Amino acid sequence: MALIELAQISRHFSLGDSTVHALREISLTIDAGEYVAVSGPSGSGKSTLLNLLGLLDRADAGRYRLDGRDTTGLTPDEAAAMRSRHIGFVFQAFHHVPRLTAAENIAQPLVLAGIETSERKRRVARALADFGLADRAAHRPNQLSGGQRQRVAIARATVMQPQVLLADEPTGNLDRHTGQEVTQLLETLNAQGVTLIVVTHDPTMAERARRQIRMEDGAILSDNGAPA
Ligand code: ADP
Ligand code: MG
Repeated sequence: MALIELAQISRHFSLGDSTVHALREISLTIDAGEYVAVSGPSGSGKSTLLNLLGLLDRADAGRYRLDGRDTTGLTPDEAAAMRSRHIGFVFQAFHHVPRLTAAENIAQPLVLAGIETSERKRRVARALADFGLADRAAHRPNQLSGGQRQRVAIARATVMQPQVLLADEPTGNLDRHTGQEVTQLLETLNAQGVTLIVVTHDPTMAERARRQIRMEDGAILSDNGAPA
């Protein structure tokens, strides 16, 4: 079933009197459960595309249906609610709240969604255990290794059990070995049914995905696995 349907999506940015066409009439369908790698040169629109998919940004033109629902006319509050229910986001730079502990960072989406305290504690404890962080619950981000920080980020991104996990260069700040561990973790989540969309400039990471999309200059240059 189509989980994500983009039709003729465009996004431009105006800087002074010049205009950057970050996305040029992108059409794309992604089914539930897919594992998709998006690669392409720096500036080709990968992050812009991911931000749109994650409802962090909106298109200037075109239509985006998520789980059968048109997102075009959503108010910011509606978009936030839909994001909270459907989407987890992992960034290259982790995006933790520095003053919060690992457990508190993981709990954030549950707090925002109004999940009550006992259920919240239960889910955070399980996430800490699942991601090998049980003995790091009270540590702050600057007291964690890069791999541990990214595991906290993935735990936070998945604690609401999203259908879609969007990862923008998730291994970009990690050494090779730690990057492979994080990749395997993301792939395990995909094997459990989460739709995984990873932006990467690392060809070996891109090759692991069942479907590879290449972008250039705001457009899709190739796509080896569009659903039938
Ligand atoms: P990628 O992730 O593939 O490196 P981006 O999606 O970040 O590329 O950027 C695509 C193009 O849009 C680039 O030319 C970039 O400079 C421009 N761009 C992205 N975000 C903004 C913004 N907020 N304001 C102005 N230009 C932007
Ligand atoms: Mg980018």
